[in-house]
Amino acid sequence: VAELSSKDTPISVKPDGVQRRYVGQIIQRFEKRGFKLVGLKMLQASDGLLSQHYRELVKKPFYPNLVDYMTSGPVVAMVWEGLNVVQSSRRMVGPTNPAEAPAGTVRGDLSLHVSRNVVHASDSVEGAEREIKLWFEVVEASAFFWIYVCL
Ligand code: UDP
Repeated sequence: VAELSSKDTPISVKPDGVQRRYVGQIIQRFEKRGFKLVGLKMLQASDGLLSQHYRELVKKPFYPNLVDYMTSGPVVAMVWEGLNVVQSSRRMVGPTNPAEAPAGTVRGDLSLHVSRNVVHASDSVEGAEREIKLWFEVVEASAFFWIYVCL
């Protein structure tokens, strides 16, 4: 990821979206809108990463199911850049519950149930910055570790 700013936001294809072969289609929606893909990786999310990512939700009754869902396969984590990308991408993704998501939104078009809602997008600039650091700078930290070990 080149540079953090309020012009960047994380968007992830969750395990159901990967399993259902929606990665290309979801990327295409954001590219068509005019946003620029500036970071992408596929990874298996750990319980630790998820407890930080969803730190406001760890006490919720649905949290154990959420972790099972988010660890059921790989996630495609991305960073997108562009004008008002945090707000606009959230609108393109639609409400958390697909039952309330209008047609034309990712969740409204591709999902039915709140516990299988295909995609993640941040809901605030602060959240976006925190999540980009969490999902992408872990790799950089481990790279420094290996450089240290090799030296
Ligand atoms: N979720 C769920 N049941 C609920 C509420 C949320 O399974 O009743 C899951 C759902 O996958 C959602 C995620 O928890 O996307 C995070 O919830 P949040 O309220 O942060 O919604 P989001 O920001 O993803 O729209």
